[in-house]
Amino acid sequence: MTGIRELLLSRIRDVADYPEPGVMFKDITPLLADPAAFAALSDVLADIARATGATKVVGLEARGFILGAPVAVRAGLGFIPVRKAGKLPGATLSQAYDLEYGSAEIEVHAEDLTTADRVLVVDDVLATGGTAEASVQLIRRAGAEVAGLAVLMELGFLGGRARLEPALAGAPLEAL
Ligand code: AMP
Repeated sequence: MTGIRELLLSRIRDVADYPEPGVMFKDITPLLADPAAFAALSDVLADIARATGATKVVGLEARGFILGAPVAVRAGLGFIPVRKAGKLPGATLSQAYDLEYGSAEIEVHAEDLTTADRVLVVDDVLATGGTAEASVQLIRRAGAEVAGLAVLMELGFLGGRARLEPALAGAPLEAL
């Protein structure tokens, strides 16, 4: 695992002041372009999916789609996209959440999750935790259980883990 962590870390590019001044953007495109690194990440996340007993993988738009889809395939689970508002054609459940300035809304197709499901949420970066917290609320409102949250990176100084703890209610938060 140590070697894998080093490999993954070496394939993440820090871009200063993007998309705005003061933000250090964690660019995962070098990792995606490296088949060995992308496969290793997918394998580790699929192991987490199996260990949590997940029945479905939810990916958060947009990089959670790229990371979550191969995990679902490897673990033999369905993949469910949680999208920004207005992008899903069917009947949706939506959840609004606050941003630093203003608010945002995410949605899921209501029929994609049932009370029989245990869901692993996958995304690239956990920052303030607002997006992940809203996705957990959405999954619960759909009647499903949250099996856990798995992210490639956690920006610890932004306090996302502490914010998420009440919402996760004991479900694991794995940051690679
Ligand atoms: P948050 O809701 O604050 O936890 O933000 C998480 C979402 O924003 C994730 O979907 C990330 O893809 C994205 N994000 C936030 N901060 C960064 C960052 N420094 N680098 C790359 N993506 C980020």
